[in-house]
Amino acid sequence: MFNSEIDSFLARHNYIALEPRAALIDMDGTLYDSMPRHADAWLRMVSEIGIEATREEFFMYEGRTGASTINLLFNREFHRDATECEIKELYHRKTVYFNELPDVEPMPGAAEMLDFFKKVGMKRVLVTGSGQSSLINRLDNDFPGAFTPEMMVTGRDTVNGKPAPDPFLIAMKKAGVTPAQSIVIENAPLGVESGDAAGAFTIGVTTGPIPGAALKEAGAAIVFPDMETLAEHLPILIYALSTHRRNLN
Ligand code: CA
Repeated sequence: MFNSEIDSFLARHNYIALEPRAALIDMDGTLYDSMPRHADAWLRMVSEIGIEATREEFFMYEGRTGASTINLLFNREFHRDATECEIKELYHRKTVYFNELPDVEPMPGAAEMLDFFKKVGMKRVLVTGSGQSSLINRLDNDFPGAFTPEMMVTGRDTVNGKPAPDPFLIAMKKAGVTPAQSIVIENAPLGVESGDAAGAFTIGVTTGPIPGAALKEAGAAIVFPDMETLAEHLPILIYALSTHRRNLN
């Protein structure tokens, strides 16, 4: 099972074999069912400053830092970058609106996935473009012991956010692993692109309105329909990743 997906990943990245030792895990839309609320908060904020947008487009920007999303919209609407001051003010306003919405729930299957990684001794690193402390601070409550504070890369850490490979490369450094020893769990095209560009076996999970084909297109080595299905197949997938060798004949 999964051998053809693993083979095509190995060939594309010119690896002989993989040795999964660390899982680099996205937060919004992967560990938390928070994307609909992010989209609502973004739409409310940008509508107030006269930017025309659709709720759907914020699912496509998912993974970007707040500053990068604001600049993208400013350039489209006002043909200029936002100032540092505007970015700070607008991201703060979006965060306030996000926090006014009802509490987000952990994604079903996320806890089981994290338990499995812990059980088999794989390191876990959180890799998010978000700088919102309301969710980051909840992690240890909802997923006790899953992430230590030094095993987190957030929107406050990185200069180049997703889709650049930088956040996942920093995560690999924190975990002391190579790309061939890393797997990435992501739900958004830009996050998948970032994980694949960093050289990790990137697992896409379609937890929102974005179709699996878009995650494949962005570089996902394999796509699961939801986190529960991923958690269920993880033991066999990790075993296959650890044992499969590329056929060079
Ligand atoms: Ca995400």
